[in-house]
Amino acid sequence: MTEFEQRAAELVEAGRSLYAQGMVPATSGNLSARLGDGRIAITVSGRHKGMLTQDDIMLVDARGQSLDGRRPSAETGLHVQIYSRVADCGAVLHPHSVNATLLSRLERERVALQDYELLKAFPGIDSHDCQVDVPVFANDQNIARLATKIDDWMSENQPIFGYLIAGHGFYTWGTTVTDALRHVEAFEFLFACEMRLRGVH
Ligand SMILES: [Zn+2]
Repeated sequence: MTEFEQRAAELVEAGRSLYAQGMVPATSGNLSARLGDGRIAITVSGRHKGMLTQDDIMLVDARGQSLDGRRPSAETGLHVQIYSRVADCGAVLHPHSVNATLLSRLERERVALQDYELLKAFPGIDSHDCQVDVPVFANDQNIARLATKIDDWMSENQPIFGYLIAGHGFYTWGTTVTDALRHVEAFEFLFACEMRLRGVH
C-alpha cells in the first residue's frame, strides 16, 4: 500500500465516522491528510462523506492546485492555510455539526472553553484548569479572503487547536488523522456542553 493509499483509507474511515455522528450532512464538510513529500490528499468536491471510496480522495500540491485534473473541495484554501501555518500538522478535518453551527451564531468573536476535563484531549494540556479560546470567524464565500483573515489571526495567537466559522461549522487538525478525529470529538462534546449551559437544547 502506498502512503497515499494509506492516508486515503484513513480519510474514508474518518468520513464514515463523522457521518455516523451527524457531523457531515448532505455532502458537507471536507477532510485531508498531508503526505511526507508535502502533497495533500483531500476529498473531491461534492462527495458524500459517509459513503467515500478511495476514488473520492485526490491529490493537490502545497498551494492547493489539483495534481490530477479533478476539482478539490471548495474550501481547499483553508486546509492549505493550516498546513502552511502548523508545521507538524498531518491532517485537517472540517465538520458541519449542529452544535458548532449554532454556537458560532450565538458567539460572534470567540468561545472560551474553561475547566473541562476533556480539554486534556488537546496536545500539551494536562489539566482541566486552563482556558482554550476558539475564535469565531464570519462566514465568507471568498475562501482566499477568509484564509488570509485566519492566517493573520493565527500569526498572533498560539496555540490554537481549531476555529469556528459562523453558522457554518469548525476546523480542527492533528499530527495524524486519528489525532484530528479525537480533536473533532472533543470540540463537539465541549460545544454541546456550552450550548446546554446557554439553555439551548
Ligand atoms: Zn464547510
